[in-house]
Amino acid sequence: MIQEMAKDVVNAKERCMDAYEKAVTLQEKLNDAITLIDPSEQLETLPEGGLFHGVPIALKDNVNTKGILTTAGSRILSNYVPVYDAEIVTKLKKEGAVIIAKASMDELAMGGTNLTCFTGPSLNPWDTNRMTGGSSGGSAAMVASGVVPMAIGSDTGDSIRKPASFCGIVGVKPTYGRISRYGIIPYASSLDHVGYFTRSIEDACISLQALAGRDDRDMTSSFKEVPDYLGLLNSDMNGKKIAIFGNVQDALTNPETKEMFAKLMHALEERGAKVDVFYFSEELMKAMLPTYYLIANCEATSNHSNLDGIRFGVREKGDSMEEIMINSRTKGFGPLIRKRFVIGSYGLFEENQDKLFRKAQKVRRLIVNELNKCLGEYDCLIAPASNDIAPLLNDTSRDQLSDGYLIVENHMVIGNFSGYPSMTVPMGFEEGCPIGVNLTCKAFDEVTMFNIGKAIEEITGYKDLTAEVK
Ligand code: GLN
Repeated sequence: MIQEMAKDVVNAKERCMDAYEKAVTLQEKLNDAITLIDPSEQLETLPEGGLFHGVPIALKDNVNTKGILTTAGSRILSNYVPVYDAEIVTKLKKEGAVIIAKASMDELAMGGTNLTCFTGPSLNPWDTNRMTGGSSGGSAAMVASGVVPMAIGSDTGDSIRKPASFCGIVGVKPTYGRISRYGIIPYASSLDHVGYFTRSIEDACISLQALAGRDDRDMTSSFKEVPDYLGLLNSDMNGKKIAIFGNVQDALTNPETKEMFAKLMHALEERGAKVDVFYFSEELMKAMLPTYYLIANCEATSNHSNLDGIRFGVREKGDSMEEIMINSRTKGFGPLIRKRFVIGSYGLFEENQDKLFRKAQKVRRLIVNELNKCLGEYDCLIAPASNDIAPLLNDTSRDQLSDGYLIVENHMVIGNFSGYPSMTVPMGFEEGCPIGVNLTCKAFDEVTMFNIGKAIEEITGYKDLTAEVK
């Protein structure tokens, strides 16, 4: 889709204006953007050619855009207009992309519901009574509803791959260091990744082609050459070795999801793949979420200490500097963020650092060691991206602390612990709503990830899925 659009130069302007108008109309139903951007000005200065020539795109609102409001979904940044573009914005613009929206997100990218954005929740295009998932929910909704063929997201725990599952699209979190993070408002730096949503594997290949590459302004950016992902795309499964994530499969409680997943594994086998079940230590599985929370909250607390109304953010009144900071932070953040800062601060107290933060880092290493064992033998680790379709907006029925929930709904964080490439692709539908399957591959082996993803896309036939918003 992106390729055809980019080649269709004559219709570039009309296409982008149409996308913008569609975004404006759908905004009322989906609330998926924080800022809509009339593309007329960008269209005047469109460069010639490019992988994204005249292709409308959306950015998650934690991507800095020069002169355009960038809120990260938080009230405290509701007046923040950056003076520079993130590296990926520069790159995409050079390729001819046209930005039509800054998409809704969970506040500061914390959360998995998109209910915590200061402009209200974004709604699922397949069923507006349901969540998009988060934190990159607005970006996912804009792709799933057919407004744009690609939208940028960020993923610290599963924030691209979970909404991709709930919205029936492809969600890619490439290897740590593959895409520059310069100019992205951080959450937890050792886990943060930039990624994106598309509606097909081909588009996922082209997008990474445009986004990947070394950036001297991001010290975690890799020097590794960027392969020709699309040129290397090949869905032949002969000789591929696939490991089913046994702990996740066993913890599934939804029979429809179980069956759908089993059928898909069988189909991959029929195409020549060797499919086995791989088990992680159950202890480590249970430790996954607490480990994530500790590392993420500690890093977030440190990263966001500058959001105080003085250095950054909306300033509240106060008689002293301290009072201004306290008032600004109290009013500026929602309850979930404040809770996480309390946990983060506690983990960072000098007397707690060894027994909490550093211990979590050690457990993270043990988990990655197990993943390395698995990927030493297999090309990819695969599991459903969630037990169920997107929850209803008011759903509080699930026991989020049950062992099963902990495992099934949080396993994708392994891609952040390791930094390895991980992607969700559509797997099937339940009650008219989509659900995805997730695969994680070796570091910098996006080629294999796309190839297996392509085979899945061919098996399911779910390519260019677009929700008709009612
Ligand atoms: N849902 C996870 C959280 O609550 C993941 C967020 C993310 O990946 N940004 O933090």
